[in-house]
Amino acid sequence: MTAAPERAACFLCGAPSEYRELGAPERRHYLCSAAGCGEYSITRRAQSLIEILYRAKVRRQELRQVVAAAAAGQLVEIDFNPGTNAWETNLVEANGSHGQAS
Ligand SMILES: [Zn+2]
Repeated sequence: MTAAPERAACFLCGAPSEYRELGAPERRHYLCSAAGCGEYSITRRAQSLIEILYRAKVRRQELRQVVAAAAAGQLVEIDFNPGTNAWETNLVEANGSHGQAS
């Protein structure tokens, strides 16, 4: 299920990046080229919420700091939980198993 990555501006900082579409939940996995950014995945609902409610870029900057602070080889998974009204940023192994906590 490895489709060729698309090139697009990073969702958080706008720098050149690549992303892949992933499913369950629908999300995009970004690999950003900017030094102050990094690797992360973000769900469709989190992206929509940022675009609708956070036009002032504050949330993008906060999330970018989380992504930039992750250690090498770590991927930040960004989601918004509508049940708890909370942002969820989980660190996972960028190249390891995905989904199940280990
Ligand atoms: Zn970026």
